[in-house]
Amino acid sequence: MIPVTTLNGKKVALFGLGGSGFATARALVAGGAEVTAWDDNPDSVAKAAAEGMAVADLRTIDWNSLSVFVLSPGVPLTHPKPHWTVDLARAAGVEVIGDVELFVRERRAHAPDCPFIAITGTNGKSTTTALIAHILQSSGRDTQLGGNIGRAVLTLDPPKAGRFYVVECSSYQIDLAPTLNPSAGILLNLTPDHLDRHGTMQHYADIKERLVAGSDVAVVGVDDSYSSLIADRIERAGGKVTRISRRHALADGLYAEGSRIMQASSGAASEIADLDGIQTLRGGHNAQNAAAAIAACLAVGVSADEIRAGLTSFPGLKHRMQPVGRRGRVVFVNDSKATNADAAAPALSSYENIYWIAGGLPKEGGITSLAPLFSRITKAYLIGEAAPAFAATLGDRVPYEISGTLERAVAHAAADADGDEHEAAAVMLSPACASFDQYKNFEVRGDAFVSHVAAIDGVTMLIGSAAGGK
Ligand code: ADP
Repeated sequence: MIPVTTLNGKKVALFGLGGSGFATARALVAGGAEVTAWDDNPDSVAKAAAEGMAVADLRTIDWNSLSVFVLSPGVPLTHPKPHWTVDLARAAGVEVIGDVELFVRERRAHAPDCPFIAITGTNGKSTTTALIAHILQSSGRDTQLGGNIGRAVLTLDPPKAGRFYVVECSSYQIDLAPTLNPSAGILLNLTPDHLDRHGTMQHYADIKERLVAGSDVAVVGVDDSYSSLIADRIERAGGKVTRISRRHALADGLYAEGSRIMQASSGAASEIADLDGIQTLRGGHNAQNAAAAIAACLAVGVSADEIRAGLTSFPGLKHRMQPVGRRGRVVFVNDSKATNADAAAPALSSYENIYWIAGGLPKEGGITSLAPLFSRITKAYLIGEAAPAFAATLGDRVPYEISGTLERAVAHAAADADGDEHEAAAVMLSPACASFDQYKNFEVRGDAFVSHVAAIDGVTMLIGSAAGGK
């Protein structure tokens, strides 16, 4: 845990006692703050009280006595409208911050030079964060990984010289971190998402921009127009920018040329890494993630050799296009995280001769948007409630069966893939559906897929129990 010493002896109110909110409250108390905590959920309040935390309805406290108000990132700061606690804080002129801000203040107070990489973007955050942490860890560096992935940031070990932090930040966390100043900040990409919580695309982009604008080195994916403008703006303001592109060559920056990641400076480019053969980094989207990870690692002093070694041994993130087993020419891929058609597209684009397991609780639009990728699918194995609708979409374009259950789908797909004559085949769970009709969540569904794969005769598993994980 990172005790929040910068608020020692100060009065602090906190709203939101979910996982990270609870951890934040504990860290504040451990650092000597006088915390009053609250939540709309009486069970969470009772749990905090049982731990000896001061709890009170924040409508009843004296806001003028507070130093800061700490809000959980799950609670609306601006959209659709500010939470009532935010209105009360603003009326009293009390600053509203979140756990990432408490972390950056702690780092500045105790170890301002310890390398801190922060990652944001619409897609690819977790993969990039995990990849960077893996590169650092496998090169023997003391590495702390958390934020919006894995552990809440204040549950990590305290900042000290030589310790590296890799912190995934959602836009909500950035919005609550006014002095965020990473050594290297990554903005991967910007496409419309969560606009219900941010109002407009411009507002969403403005929040994400703050993470890179505050960085010593700003690593920005410039393949979309919003991010590209942000890179230009930071540079004009005198900031150091490394541009990333998966789509075209750059005069300065890192870009993908097929599977090769090129590093360019003043128009001269050379290869810094080749992703060919790295199963966990297949696809153009992963070239963007890898190039950004390389840029950030270079910025904090990791050597090119160390980076290449880390890329090669990256185990991938659980449930995201993760190769989990192999039998002969057939690889088994767990992409359970793909809970809608858009999310399934990268996996389907990254393989050919696919034995595709899809279905679950359908989302609006079904799989019609995936039609351009149907030619990659040799046969589909449909499960869950979506099966009849998906069958209707596939029609006579893709052979399919209604397998019903995941277990049957895996067994049938494995047998069919085994019998085909192609050089390589992929049995892939990329369901394009939520899991709730048959599973508690996508993680449980992915774990079930892995155990069905492990039960197949003659399969070699490619993952240990510690591989990846969010
Ligand atoms: P996030 O943490 O931002 O949700 P993840 O790394 O968990 O992203 O990846 C989730 C899914 O998003 C992946 O399975 C893949 O389909 C897609 N994805 C990953 N990286 C990118 C990228 N750079 N651009 C577009 N889509 C991506």
